[in-house]
Amino acid sequence: SSKILPKPKWLRVQPADSDNYRELRKTVRKLGLATVCEEARCPNIGECWGGGKDKTATATIMIMGDTCTRGCRFCSVKTSRKPPPLDPEEPEKVSSAIAKWGLDYVVLTSVDRDDLEDQGSNHFREVIQKLKEKKPDLLVEALTPDFQGNEELIQNVATSGLDVFAHNVETVKRLTSKVRDRRANYDQSLAVLKYAKNVGNCITKTSLMLGLGETEEDLMETLHDLRAIDVDVVTFGQYLQPTRKHLPVKKYVTPEEFDEWKIKADNMGFKYVASGPLVRSSYKAGEFFLKNLLN
Ligand code: SF4
Ligand code: SF4
Repeated sequence: SSKILPKPKWLRVQPADSDNYRELRKTVRKLGLATVCEEARCPNIGECWGGGKDKTATATIMIMGDTCTRGCRFCSVKTSRKPPPLDPEEPEKVSSAIAKWGLDYVVLTSVDRDDLEDQGSNHFREVIQKLKEKKPDLLVEALTPDFQGNEELIQNVATSGLDVFAHNVETVKRLTSKVRDRRANYDQSLAVLKYAKNVGNCITKTSLMLGLGETEEDLMETLHDLRAIDVDVVTFGQYLQPTRKHLPVKKYVTPEEFDEWKIKADNMGFKYVASGPLVRSSYKAGEFFLKNLLN
């Protein structure tokens, strides 16, 4: 049996409150948008939706339904071998709503759709293209499945006009088979990021959860692997167990240790690193642009 570690105090968060946050909250339901930020009760919602002067208001939207064909051991999204079909109206509906909503930066993510012939790649592309047509200055990040490593399907998304191509390795090589669905694979995820960069010439990004039992050597190996394929942005956050049925937390990594990982990764040449107990892959994602590209 696995013992449950007590939650440290640094994982408690401040309640969300700002004008921009309240404004986005007020309009999100009118527009019929379902956000990962709200559904996952993400602790960063105040900061991400806060926006305002010198900040980018960021939110994450899940497309292609709420049911995944995979079952990763850290994830609470529901699973089915045959989820309902895609909504062909979704690209139009969701892009109109997002364009009206008042964001500076949107992260589009999706469940994995291994059941579909193109794994949803064309649908993903269509959403991005419609968004860019409707609101060209909106920064768009796609956080994509691995498309089983299929280059044509990766290319479809990487050349859609997006600003950032993100695909998460989630954990270090040694723990991948324990943590992710058995169809996921560390080397394949690296290949996805590498191919997206080559074919799309886009900024690439990946995220890791800490506290799953990885060692310092494991993590250094992963960072070297990511630099070797020119990944630009990396984020580190604490793994939190969504329910008792999911993988237990092996360790609560301290804020100081997260700071050390940020320094190490910065020194290895990543263009942007976000690292902290509550950091999620989309945490204040637009900051990277404020810091690096737009000034
Ligand atoms: Fe969750 Fe993504 Fe894994 Fe599906 S593929 S179970 S959505 S982490
Ligand atoms: Fe939303 Fe991601 Fe920010 Fe959480 S970290 S509030 S999911 S954009």
